[in-house]
Amino acid sequence: MSVRARVDDVWLGGPLWSPIPGLKNEQRFTNNNQLQALQVIQLIQMRHLRQINVEIDMTEIPLEQHIAPGGEQMTVRDLASCPPPERWHDWVEYDAKAWPRKVERHYAIIPTICFNCEAACGLMAYVDKETGRVKKFEGNPYHPGSRGRNCAKGPATINQVNDPERILYPLKRGGKRGEGKWERTTWDEVLDTFAAKIRAAIVEDRRDEVMYHVGRPGHDGYMERVLGAWGVDGHNSHTNVCSSSARFGYQIWCGMDRPSPDHANARFILLISSHLETGHYFNPQAQRIIEGKMKGAKLAVMDPRLSNTASMADYWLPTWPGSETAVLLAMARILLVENLYNHDYMRRWVNWQQYLASEHPIEPQTFNHFISILLDLYAGYTPSFAAHESGLQEKTIIDIARQIGHAGTAFAAHTWRAATAGNLGGWQVARALWFLSVLTGSIGTIGGTAPNAWNKFVPAPFLKPGPSEVWNELLYPPEYPLANYEMSILLPYFLKEGRGKLAAYFTRVYNPVWTNPDGTAWIEMLTNEQQIELHAALTPVWSETAWYADYVLPMGVGSERHDLMSQETHAARWIGFRQPVLRVYKERNGEPIEYTYQANPGEVWEEDEFWIELSWRIDPDGSLGIRKYFESPYRPGHKLAIEEYYRWIFENSVPGLPEAAAQEQLSPLEYMRTYGSFEIPVDKAPVFTLNERELKSKDLEGTRVDKLSGTIKREGAPVGVTIDGRAYEGFPTPSRKLEFYSSTLKEWGWPEYAIPSYIQSHVHRDTMNHDMGEYLLIPTFRLPTLIHTRSGNAKWLYEISNANPVWIHPVDAERIRVQTGDLIRVTTEIGYFVNRVWITEGIRPGIVACSHHLGRWRLETGQGTDRWASSLVELAKVDDGIWRMHQLEGIQPFASDDPDSSRIFWREGGVHQNLTFPVHPDPVSGMHCWHQKVTVELAHQKDAYGDVYVDTKKAHMVYQDWLGMTRPQTLRPDGLRRPLWMIRPYRPAARVFKRD
Ligand code: SF4
Repeated sequence: MSVRARVDDVWLGGPLWSPIPGLKNEQRFTNNNQLQALQVIQLIQMRHLRQINVEIDMTEIPLEQHIAPGGEQMTVRDLASCPPPERWHDWVEYDAKAWPRKVERHYAIIPTICFNCEAACGLMAYVDKETGRVKKFEGNPYHPGSRGRNCAKGPATINQVNDPERILYPLKRGGKRGEGKWERTTWDEVLDTFAAKIRAAIVEDRRDEVMYHVGRPGHDGYMERVLGAWGVDGHNSHTNVCSSSARFGYQIWCGMDRPSPDHANARFILLISSHLETGHYFNPQAQRIIEGKMKGAKLAVMDPRLSNTASMADYWLPTWPGSETAVLLAMARILLVENLYNHDYMRRWVNWQQYLASEHPIEPQTFNHFISILLDLYAGYTPSFAAHESGLQEKTIIDIARQIGHAGTAFAAHTWRAATAGNLGGWQVARALWFLSVLTGSIGTIGGTAPNAWNKFVPAPFLKPGPSEVWNELLYPPEYPLANYEMSILLPYFLKEGRGKLAAYFTRVYNPVWTNPDGTAWIEMLTNEQQIELHAALTPVWSETAWYADYVLPMGVGSERHDLMSQETHAARWIGFRQPVLRVYKERNGEPIEYTYQANPGEVWEEDEFWIELSWRIDPDGSLGIRKYFESPYRPGHKLAIEEYYRWIFENSVPGLPEAAAQEQLSPLEYMRTYGSFEIPVDKAPVFTLNERELKSKDLEGTRVDKLSGTIKREGAPVGVTIDGRAYEGFPTPSRKLEFYSSTLKEWGWPEYAIPSYIQSHVHRDTMNHDMGEYLLIPTFRLPTLIHTRSGNAKWLYEISNANPVWIHPVDAERIRVQTGDLIRVTTEIGYFVNRVWITEGIRPGIVACSHHLGRWRLETGQGTDRWASSLVELAKVDDGIWRMHQLEGIQPFASDDPDSSRIFWREGGVHQNLTFPVHPDPVSGMHCWHQKVTVELAHQKDAYGDVYVDTKKAHMVYQDWLGMTRPQTLRPDGLRRPLWMIRPYRPAARVFKRD
C-alpha cells in the first residue's frame, strides 16, 4: 500500500494533531503504518479538515481489507485455525469419539449471532450433514465485533438447543394462575385469543392497555415497528433495573445515552466497575482493552470487588460504592488546576456561554472567566475530600488524574450498571466520567470515547409506521418526567393504586418475578386477573415469571430465529444477522420452509413470524391500517415472509452491502446468509468526531442563529451550532453543544444538579455502623459465565458457576465471627435471606457482595425452572403481607435423554436475594438503586440455606418513601410531560408530550 499525505502546519499545530502522534508534514505510509493512513482518511472525512491542505493518493489503499477504522487488524490470520469461507459448505473434521480411527464428519457451517448477552458476537453453527443437527458452535472470525472469539456463553448455545428441559410446545394454564396446571395448546388458539383481546383494546381506544415488556430484545427496531403499527404506547423494558441511570448521565451531556470507548487505541483506560467486561459487550470490549494494554495503555478499574477486570488492571481502585463521583470530580479539578485540560476543545464545544449568561449574568462573559469559575465551583473536590469519601489514597487519585490528562484525546472511559445502577444519584457517576472525557477533548476521537450512536448502525425497514398518538402513564408517570426509560419496576404499585390495568401483557425473555426487586409484588400483580387480564410469557426457557402466565410460548434460542443487530463494540459500524441455522440448512438443500418453526425443534416459533401472524389476525381485512405494515414489499397484498423483511433492508438500507455482495456474485441477502455480518465501509460511515461535520448551505435554509450560544434553529428546534464562524452539526442537545450546564435539569425541578456534582448515596459510608453488624450489600455483580436468569438451560455454564455465596472481607468475618461456608442471615429493610459465606480479600472491608445470577427456584419438579439450575422450594404467603420461601430440595441429578443430567454434582444452587429488596427508584433518572444497607449476622438456629422472608407491607412503605423524593412536574404552564429533546424509546407523537 502506498499513500502520500501532505498536511500543512495549521493542522500540525492545531488541536487535531494529537490523534496521530509522529505524523510528519509529508508522510509516506507503508504496510507497517496502515493505522496512520486510515486515521488520516478518517480525519479528512470529517469535514472540519477541509481548510487543510492534504493530498492523499488513495488508489492503492486496499480499504476493503480487514482493517477497522480505529486501526485494528481483523485477525482471521491470528486464529490458530479457522475454516475458510470457501469451505463452509463442506467442512471436514475427524470424529473425536472415533479416535484412534480417522472417521470423517462433514459439516455445513452456517453463521448466526449469539443471543446470550447484548454484545451480539458472531457464531458459526456446525450442522452435521449426516444427522442434520447442529453439532457445535464456534466463533465467526469474519464478525467485526468478536473476530472469531467468544466467551463461554457463546459455545454453550448448543446446551440450550439440546436442553432436555426445554419447552417445545405452547402451553396454556389449566387451573388458577400460578397453580402449575399446564395443558398443551395450539398456536392458532394463542394467536386468535390475543388478536381478539388486542383488537378490542385498539378499537375501543384503550391503547395503553397493551404492553410488551422485554428483558433481552436481541434485535434493533423490530418491535418498535410492530407496536407503532398497532398504534399503542406499550413498550416496556427492563432498563430501569439495568442502565437507565448511566444512560441519563450521558444523555444530559450529549443527547446520546451510551458510551463507546475505542479501547484498542487508548493511552489510558478508566472503567467504573467491571460490569462492562464481565457482562456487557464482555468479549469484544475485553479483547480491545487487552490490545490497548499490549500497545502500552494503562488500565484503571474502580470497583469495590476484585473482579476479573480489576485483576487485569494496572490500578485497582476499590472505592466505597457511591463515592465514585467525588473521585472523578477531584480528578477533573486536578486537570483544571494543573492546566491538563484541552483548552480549545472546551472553548469550542462546552456550553459555557449559556452557563455564564444564566448563572453569572453580570460577570465577564469570557471563556477564561468560565474556567476561573470552574476552579471555584470544584474547589471543594480536593484529593483529600475524595480520599475521605472513597477510601482511596490521595496520591493515587492525583497520579491517575495526571495520566488521564497526559493521555489527552486518547483517554477511553466507560461506566455501565454497577456504580451507576447501585446508588441514589448514580447518574452523576456517568456524568462526572464524561466530564473527564470533555476536559481531555476525547469525545469521539481515536483512542477516546464516542457516543454509541456514532458506532452503531440501525438500518431502516420498509414502510415505517408513524408515532402513536397515546401516552401511557403506567410507563412514564408524572412523578418521573426525566426518567430515561420506562418506570418498569413500579408497574405492580401503579396497578395496585388503580392507575390502570392491562388487557394484554407480553413478557418476553424477561423474568421480573425473579429479577426485579420485591418479586412478591410481581407475583401478586400477575395472579390478579383484574389488573392483568391476559398474560403470555414469550421465552425460550422456563422462568419463575412464566409460571404465573396464562400462556407459555416457546421461542427459539440464538440459532433458531432471525434478528438484526448492531452494537458499539469498537470504533466502527457493523450489522450482524442472526438466523435460524436449520432452516437455512434445509433451504440450501432444497427443502421448502414457509415458517421457521417447521425447521425448529417441536413447535418452537421465532418471534418475528409470531408478530406478523398476530398482526394479520388483529387486522384481517386491513381496515385498522395495521395489516399493510405486514404485507410483502415484493408481493403487494400478500403476507410478509420473514425473509422478505430482511431482504428489503439488505437491498435498500445498508450502505456498501449491495456492492460487496455483487463483487461475490451474491444478492445482499445471500451475502448476509453466507457471512452473517457486514461492516459498513469507512468511507460510507465515518465514526470519529461527528459533531464536527459542517452543515451545508442547504442545511441552513430557514434557520436562525442564537447570538449568545451560537445555536442554529429552525422553527425553534436546534439543528446545529456556529463556532468560530463555521456551522457544525454538533450534538443532539438543546444547545447543540456538550451541556456542562443543563438548563433542562434546572427547568424540570433540579436546579442544584444543573452542573455535574456529587450526590451522597443512600448507602453512604457514614450511614453504616459495622459494630452493629451493618454493611453495604452489592447485589449486582455478574459472573462472566452466566446470563442473568437465562442460563439455567446451559449445563456447561452451571457446571462452572453454581453458587452465589456472600463475599466478606477477613476483617469483617472476624467481627461477625464466621468462617467460609458458615450460614449467615442478611437482613434488608423488608426481610432477610440465608446464605453461605465466602471469605476473601477480593472485597473491600465494610462491604459484602452476592452475585445476582443464582438462586433460581421452581415450585414443582418436572416443570418450571430447569433442574440444572433450580432448587425445589415452598413459597407461600403465610400471613397478611408476609411471604416465606423455604428450599425443599437442592439441585439433584435427574434422568433424561442427556446422560449429563445424571452426573450433576452441584447441590446448592444459590439463594434468591432480590426478593428481599424493596424498590429504590432514583427520583431523577428513575433507576432502581440496587445497593442495600443490610445487617449481617450468624444464621439463627432454625434458619436453613436458601430461606427467604419478605414483608410486602414494609416494601410498599419504602416505595412510598422514595416516591416522596420526586418532584412531579404536573403544574408546568406548557403542559409538557417530558422535555421534547430527550430520548424516549418508542417515541409517541410530539403532540402527546403535552397533556390535554
Ligand atoms: S460476549 Fe455475549 S454475545 Fe459474545 S459470546 Fe459471550 S455471551 Fe455471546
